[in-house]
Amino acid sequence: MDVKNLSIGTKLIHAGVEPDPATGAIMTPIYQTTTYVQSAPGVHKGYEYSRSQNPIRHALEKAMAAIENGKHATCYGSGMAAIDAILKLLSPGDEVVSTNDLYGGAYRIFMQVFKQYGIHFNFVGMNDMAFIEAAITPNTKMLWVETPTNPMLNIIDIEACASVAKKHNLILVVDNTFASPYLQNPLDWGADIVMHSATKYLGGHSDVVHGCIITNSDDLQKKLRFIQNSCGAVPGPQDCFLVLRGLKTLHVRMRQHCINAKAIATWLKTNKKVDQVLWCGLPEHPNHNIAKKQMRDFGGMVSFSLKDDTVQAAHDILSKTKLFALAESLGGVESLCGHPATMTHASIPRAERIAIGLKDSLIRLSVGIEDVEDLMADLEQAFS
Ligand SMILES: *Cc1c(COP(=O)(O)O)cnc(C)c1O
Repeated sequence: MDVKNLSIGTKLIHAGVEPDPATGAIMTPIYQTTTYVQSAPGVHKGYEYSRSQNPIRHALEKAMAAIENGKHATCYGSGMAAIDAILKLLSPGDEVVSTNDLYGGAYRIFMQVFKQYGIHFNFVGMNDMAFIEAAITPNTKMLWVETPTNPMLNIIDIEACASVAKKHNLILVVDNTFASPYLQNPLDWGADIVMHSATKYLGGHSDVVHGCIITNSDDLQKKLRFIQNSCGAVPGPQDCFLVLRGLKTLHVRMRQHCINAKAIATWLKTNKKVDQVLWCGLPEHPNHNIAKKQMRDFGGMVSFSLKDDTVQAAHDILSKTKLFALAESLGGVESLCGHPATMTHASIPRAERIAIGLKDSLIRLSVGIEDVEDLMADLEQAFS
């Protein structure tokens, strides 16, 4: 079905999927197969070997491209596999300018894997384009943006980054995991590549690890597909099925994530033990206006720090929540809480964490879609 002119919720349900030609099944079946029989040497139905093509992965890739307003998508066995594929577009000596407030796993693959292959990474605060400009050298090839950032939930102006990227002929990559395509479509603001950890909001039910890349560029797609087929970081058909199913309710889930996050951020502001509340929907958030420009709503992630700014104070609260499960990850229907300094961002040296404002007491919430009164009651008892 051509979904181009439909709105996002309709696209999420209909993009990519066609009734199965063999049976009419409305959901694309899971073809659990490695290979496809050819009627004569080289004569096949578009599928040869499942590292290269699989029908449900194909359906999911069409859906992903459509909901990000892109031309092409490639799906991977995880978000990190997607990041790995993007970095393999680079050559030794190339440089990347990235935000200094970044998913811990992205920082790790940059500094502990790709650095040893001669790729250089510069980390800057991307709230000011002058900082980005200052970090660009003749060897810079890529601008790596994550917005909202993790865990500080800063918002980076994608359109402004795109004009810097264009000026210096750089590939602009946006990790859109925290926003999801329901809230933000970076290609519309000039990004060259969008990537997702579909493990989070896209899958949405904490039951699948998966990654995705979307682009409008035929040239980049050709290279990414070559890298995928050569390196092999493909998702299994069962995982593609779970993500495709997750997509169909993304809009309904995201609306509720946003409503619940707003209620919790507003409530946290009134709590006497809380120091700062970080949620880009709050009018006092330093990047609120950029969020209003490039996002449809403000998302389900809320971070806050405590007046007693110690690891212990944060651990005391995190050990008492019952509905908010203490766990890494985010974006599922159930609420999670975490402590970046000792969990997701433990691999980033403390001095670097403090420099970007990531305090010892900072707690990150992935607000789920439970009834919000229960979530607030849970936090209340954890604080008392
Ligand atoms: C989780 C995450 C990743 C990595 O994805 P995996 O699916 O866990 O491999 C990358 N970027 C962000 C922002 C994430 O939250």
